[in-house]
Amino acid sequence: MTPEQARQTQATVERTLREAEVNPYEMFRAQVDLAGEKLGYPADILEMVKRPERVLEVSVPVRMDDGRIEVFRGYRVQHSSVRGPCKGGIRFHPAVTIDEVKALAGWMTWKCAVVDIPLGGGKGGVVCDPTTLSEGELERLTRRYTAMILPLIGPHHDIPAPDVNTNARIMNWVMDTATALRGEPMYGIVTGKDLAVGGARGRREATGRGVVIVIEELLARLGREVAGATVAVQGFGNVGSVAAQLLHAKGAKVVGVSDISGALYDPTGLDIPSLLEHVSRSPQRLIAGYTAPGVQPLAGPEVLTLDVDVLVPAALEGQITEVNAGQIKARVIVEGANGPTTPEADLILEERGRVVAPDILANAGGVVVSYFEWVQNLQNFYWEEAETNERLAVILRRAFQSVWDNAKKHDVSLRTAAFMMGLERVVEAIRLRGVFP
Ligand code: NAD
Repeated sequence: MTPEQARQTQATVERTLREAEVNPYEMFRAQVDLAGEKLGYPADILEMVKRPERVLEVSVPVRMDDGRIEVFRGYRVQHSSVRGPCKGGIRFHPAVTIDEVKALAGWMTWKCAVVDIPLGGGKGGVVCDPTTLSEGELERLTRRYTAMILPLIGPHHDIPAPDVNTNARIMNWVMDTATALRGEPMYGIVTGKDLAVGGARGRREATGRGVVIVIEELLARLGREVAGATVAVQGFGNVGSVAAQLLHAKGAKVVGVSDISGALYDPTGLDIPSLLEHVSRSPQRLIAGYTAPGVQPLAGPEVLTLDVDVLVPAALEGQITEVNAGQIKARVIVEGANGPTTPEADLILEERGRVVAPDILANAGGVVVSYFEWVQNLQNFYWEEAETNERLAVILRRAFQSVWDNAKKHDVSLRTAAFMMGLERVVEAIRLRGVFP
């Protein structure tokens, strides 16, 4: 490729990235093109790795408490199984779309490849607002959705896990439904379960713990440490609250947090244990209503633009956009959420010298410990939490180092470096396996 052709390809990819902002799957495809172009891969291979292997849409009829039947729409997407069984969470959210699920499944493929675990990428979702469902409705929805996707999932094919608005209780129902329908124990069909029914010690905290390991590694490369660093966290659910808790315990000052109910700010550092206590007592597990001396309320989006050392977006995708990227003051952004930064925002942050630890590395702790849970289920042999945490740290620190070195070698951002690594490993597996028939 001549330098002029390379420049044109780059310009085309950047334009596609800008146009793709609103559609996560187009964003995913454009990201693959960008990494593939840098690796000099041919278009046919890139087309193969951009498309999901299988896409299933299901309708999920649920008998509601008032007697009527409501039909929900659900999806399960298997993006790639070339490196191992597909792996990826199930999301319950009103904004779930097929393109979102396809993108999330694809990101899982790169994530598993970047941390080098023998799994591929998958994802599922149901278009619903779980906050409006009773406990019984939620259980019936989960069980019927599981029954509908059962032809695709299984311990050796595709193993779901929790994601936004789904948790251990919901994973227990997935396992129990599969067990009932298949007539044999199916612990290894899903991860993120409660401990008493095949869960792994340390799984609940794993994603947040991984985010903190990545923050430590990144700050160390920049000559800083976690103790004394100021942090803002968007999203105070599984990922954000655990990350905030561990950062606080390591001496960081978590000055801002937000969730769907609003945001809180304390320039001297929020008392995270006391905030967690408040959230655990709140029926919807929200920060709303928390008060303490020195704590000020903020408008939700303001948490992203606080003057801090580290920003952890840990809510949903598309939060850092071209509209607010210019106002982000954090030197380091560590993506707890999947896809929180749009491609346009990425370019702005890069120009402004901000360092972004990409989702497929930064939040990979969850899938690494899901992998451990699955291994334990298959062996029916359970580890101590210390062993899980130790092995998690080894895998993540090694992956961070490889991504960091790759970024230096190719003079690219950490995101492009991570994508290139993931893509290289997936393409290598395709090369070794060949294309059937
Ligand atoms: P969760 O449902 O436990 O928490 C989500 C949090 O985000 C909640 O506190 C919610 O109130 C908040 N939120 C939602 N919209 C918001 C908004 N507009 N502004 C501020 N806060 C908002 O979900 P989770 O499991 O913590 O997942 C969060 C993100 O991390 C998602 O992108 C998910 O895909 C990703 N992720 C999760 C895991 C995991 O193991 N749970 C693993 C990898 C990636």
